[in-house]
Amino acid sequence: MQTPKTFFHVSVSVKAILQMPDICFLEDENNVPLKDAEARQLLKSMNANFIPGGNCPGFDYESGTCPGHTEEEFNNL
Ligand SMILES: [Zn+2]
Repeated sequence: MQTPKTFFHVSVSVKAILQMPDICFLEDENNVPLKDAEARQLLKSMNANFIPGGNCPGFDYESGTCPGHTEEEFNNL
């Protein structure tokens, strides 16, 4: 029997994102793409050092650590 794999989300530095000239890859909670100004406002209001590259329950916004997920959990996020 195989050991179940653990899946991790990448974390992205908020500081690095804010240095980008045009932030065009963030969405709101309804999956509506945010405009650059809206994305900046959201990132600043979150007061986070990192954001996860995907929906990550248990993500640590301070250290950028994903707790890890089973394959089944990861695929259903
Ligand atoms: Zn995660």
